[in-house]
Amino acid sequence: MEREIRYAAGIDLGGTTVKYAVVDDRGGICFSGSLPTPATAGAEAVAGAVLQAVKACTDHAAAAGLTLDGVGAGTPGVISADGRTVVGGAENIAGWENVPLADIITRASGLAARIDNDANLMALAETMFGAAQGASDVVFLTVGTGIGGGVLIGGRLFGGYRNRGTELGHTVLLADGERCACGACGCLEHYASTSALVRRYRERAERAGKDAGSVDGRKIVEAYRAGEPLALETLEEHWRFLAEGIRSLVNIFAPQKVVVGGGISEAGDFYFDRLREYVAESVIPVCGSHTEIVAARLGNSAGCLGAAGLVFGKR
Ligand SMILES: [Zn+2]
Repeated sequence: MEREIRYAAGIDLGGTTVKYAVVDDRGGICFSGSLPTPATAGAEAVAGAVLQAVKACTDHAAAAGLTLDGVGAGTPGVISADGRTVVGGAENIAGWENVPLADIITRASGLAARIDNDANLMALAETMFGAAQGASDVVFLTVGTGIGGGVLIGGRLFGGYRNRGTELGHTVLLADGERCACGACGCLEHYASTSALVRRYRERAERAGKDAGSVDGRKIVEAYRAGEPLALETLEEHWRFLAEGIRSLVNIFAPQKVVVGGGISEAGDFYFDRLREYVAESVIPVCGSHTEIVAARLGNSAGCLGAAGLVFGKR
């Protein structure tokens, strides 16, 4: 007999858009959409946008004759350990603190709800449905404007006491480094994010008396492929910085998979080949002997899939 397929709504609240999807328990997306985040309009307006996204999912489920087991939602910031309240720390959404988002969703929809940090849910999604499927111990990094991360230990999301930890982008890379957005100095994010790649390329161009123009991560990768010296130097440095961060994480967690996502991770196999070489040079061999460094597979859908995964997985 075929087992019954379960469905859940997955909401991914970001600083610019609210993505939503109806997801089945194999990671299939039956329906999806997005709407703008009123990020400067206050918590009530943002919660309203989340409820609009939930309603789009429940309307779809009703029309399609699907029963939703619940709603999962990912948001920036620190989430209470019971998975119900946004505590704070979401810098890109004004006033987004002390918001009992899971209760707000349940009240409006009548469905069970759980929430977690967005990067945690991307890690969960990659473990349940993506690049780390089948692994129990996983470190996930998303490399973009900043560096977000999540950790699974023994198949469960690890958040530290009261879910306050796993700020993997704010581990220390250079003790005497430049100031990071978090206020401290020398963070991994400040040196190995895509913004850092662009910033450091621009600095090199300036020193060389060249106009970097409207350079971005993609253009630097293209220039690298074309053998442009500044791009070669800057991308090699990026790999080295990111690899040093990954080395620390491997030495601590000895994960089966380090999953790297974000736009830059789509550069191609050469990106990961080089990254693996740098990590292999410095990691403690016995710590990294079972670790594979792989590209994230779920792209922009990871947030919604992981949010739905909260409903299916009870993690
Ligand atoms: Zn920092």
